[in-house]
Amino acid sequence: MKSYFDIAGDGGSRVLEQVRAKQSRIAAALAGVRRMVAVGSGKGGVGKSTLTLQLAHALREDGASVAILDADLNGPSQARMTGLGSVAPVPGPDGLVLPRTAAGIGVVSMGLFVPESAALDFESVAAGDSYVWRATKEFAVLGDLLAGVAWGPLDFLLVDLPPGAERTVQYAEFFGAAAALVLVTLPSDLSRGVVARSVAGLRRAPNRVLGYVENMKGYCCSECGSVRPLFAESSAIDLGIPCLGAVPFDPALAAACDRGEPLPAAAAGPAWPAVRSVAAAIRGALEAS
Ligand code: ADP
Repeated sequence: MKSYFDIAGDGGSRVLEQVRAKQSRIAAALAGVRRMVAVGSGKGGVGKSTLTLQLAHALREDGASVAILDADLNGPSQARMTGLGSVAPVPGPDGLVLPRTAAGIGVVSMGLFVPESAALDFESVAAGDSYVWRATKEFAVLGDLLAGVAWGPLDFLLVDLPPGAERTVQYAEFFGAAAALVLVTLPSDLSRGVVARSVAGLRRAPNRVLGYVENMKGYCCSECGSVRPLFAESSAIDLGIPCLGAVPFDPALAAACDRGEPLPAAAAGPAWPAVRSVAAAIRGALEAS
């Protein structure tokens, strides 16, 4: 059997040609997208998916056309949060028809294709290299989703990133300089510490990091209506990027996300004006570039 180093060029696979063809299919599919904003963190469970959807609603309310790509292939949340469930997109003349929420937000998520009772399993040929192999397959699937959907003209394509500081950087590099990043943290040193790693890694990526959002900054008390402390205030960790705003934890919002209820009607508490202000800060930062 030939070793890797015995193969001349691409070994006849025309892999470079295939990669270029795919890149141009992705570029053609995204030609109508004005702004791409990826919402990441590094840390899991900090509210990336929740804020992505809430920001989409805020931008939509201001008249923008918005879609969400749920790039968390193995832990997709957007199908449930939007209430779309597992209704697989259908083919149309220009690719898969973009599924939309009642508010008109386009949503593409593995949760539309794979029901929650099933795990997405990337088969692995070699246990030792399984991470590399899996990551390669993940990006192949992401590329197919980007190239295969009729995104149409969009003011904003928001990308809900998976957790992991290193993966945040890999995904940012995959989406390229056209995608700006917003990072989500909790107001705890534990969370900020991980986000600081993402910020450090992103320095070598071509993407603009617009800033960070502090999520769950305080708890909206349904009894007295006030916002009370949730985490001990910190922090010695300066992320070195602008703060785009803070959003409190609103139990009504968490419940609405679980039920996949249309937002923001269910989230009329203090979290909603905070999200709107973050959306305005993101718009401002993008326009300043
Ligand atoms: P991530 O995408 O970072 O893993 P999620 O968006 O899935 O995090 O949020 C984790 C949980 O916290 C979810 O149950 C979500 O509904 C809830 N949540 C996140 N942010 C808020 C918030 N500001 N108010 C209420 N619930 C929130």
